[in-house]
Amino acid sequence: MTHYYGGIEAGGTKFVCAVGTGPDDIRAEIRFPTTAPDETIGRAITFFEQQAKEVGLAAIGIGSFGPVDPDPTSPTFGFITTTPKPGWRDVDFAGAVGRALNLPVGFDTDVNVAALGEHRWGAARGLDTFVYLTVGTGIGGGGLIGGSLMHGLIHPEMGHIRLPHDLEADPFAGVCPYHGDCLEGLASGPALQARWGQPAETLPPDHPAWPLQARYLALALVNIICTLSPQRIIVGGGVMAQPALYDLVRDQVQSLLGGYIQSPAILEDIESYIAPPGLGGRSGVLGAIALAKAVIQD
Ligand code: ADP
Ligand code: ZN
Repeated sequence: MTHYYGGIEAGGTKFVCAVGTGPDDIRAEIRFPTTAPDETIGRAITFFEQQAKEVGLAAIGIGSFGPVDPDPTSPTFGFITTTPKPGWRDVDFAGAVGRALNLPVGFDTDVNVAALGEHRWGAARGLDTFVYLTVGTGIGGGGLIGGSLMHGLIHPEMGHIRLPHDLEADPFAGVCPYHGDCLEGLASGPALQARWGQPAETLPPDHPAWPLQARYLALALVNIICTLSPQRIIVGGGVMAQPALYDLVRDQVQSLLGGYIQSPAILEDIESYIAPPGLGGRSGVLGAIALAKAVIQD
């Protein structure tokens, strides 16, 4: 029997579950809204139980919204921990899945797992140090450093870095419940909606929202570049569907760096240095399958 892998992309608004071995071999996929933990995780388990009967599953990989505990040596490994999302605090996500299916489970942040997908099959192939940033309902970043997924103390929280905020040019206070005007508070989809009074997808390309948005994202990327020295930064998420944004961000990154980092990647090839995800919107669920594979192979 072929051994397939199960992947869960667990977002705050929806779950995507898939079974397969890679981008060209997905044999089943479902998506459903994120409701209460028992119900939502239960739906995922039911799907994988069926698949396990039909084709056999070797392992499950989970990329989850958070904060999470991704440390396999910790007693709360696989938990969603301090999330403000109602009902989801201290939920033993990986444990529930592993016990129900009796399978090994890999578990990490949604963005680390998406980074893994991009590393395996997407825009980060062959790199050992890169960042994957998503700009959507929230902002989050993950990636690899020297070939290993970023963890450290807990895991990175790149969405909550602090940026210079010129209150005269932009008096908006920000929407982060913890920090107000952190990166996510200023530049997430909900921040755009709150600042401009309309959903981000309805703001026309010539709206002043976009140069301001590009400035915040560029400030964030410059901090990430100067701190981690990534070989590439992949930027995805719903807000990046605004087509003009990539070039605005690239220009501002070059201008903010002021020629200081003498790498051709930044000076001459910024289009591939600041890049959209190679897997489009599929980095997360494919990364979860890559994580499941890695659990078996390690
Ligand atoms: P999530 O972060 O929940 O996984 P997405 O990455 O799809 O979801 O991001 C959703 C956010 O993207 C919403 O805040 C929405 O307003 C914004 N968005 C969706 N389409 C566009 C668009 N074409 N231009 C700008 N923003 C968009
Ligand atoms: Zn914050």
